[in-house]
Amino acid sequence: MNGEPVTQEMLETKGYKRYHGEGIDIYYNKDICAHIGNCVRGNPDIFEVGRRPWIIPDNGSVENAVYVVDTCPSGALKYIRKEE
Ligand code: SF4
Repeated sequence: MNGEPVTQEMLETKGYKRYHGEGIDIYYNKDICAHIGNCVRGNPDIFEVGRRPWIIPDNGSVENAVYVVDTCPSGALKYIRKEE
């Protein structure tokens, strides 16, 4: 992730919540989110405000999930890809 190794423990310690997927986990920190909406515009199948859970990583490809998470301007979204 952005060249830095990030672990689940590191993210959860910082207040991120994990959303489990088959090939990738997406993490979200509501305290950092700036509500700019790049995520829901980027892939409304993965990110849907009001749904529970609001993030479903398996509703898109791993590549697309990475792409959309990287468009988040605040750093509220992170991901950890699963081992191949
Ligand atoms: S793109 Fe990031 S900052 Fe914007 S709404 Fe989504 S999570 Fe929040």
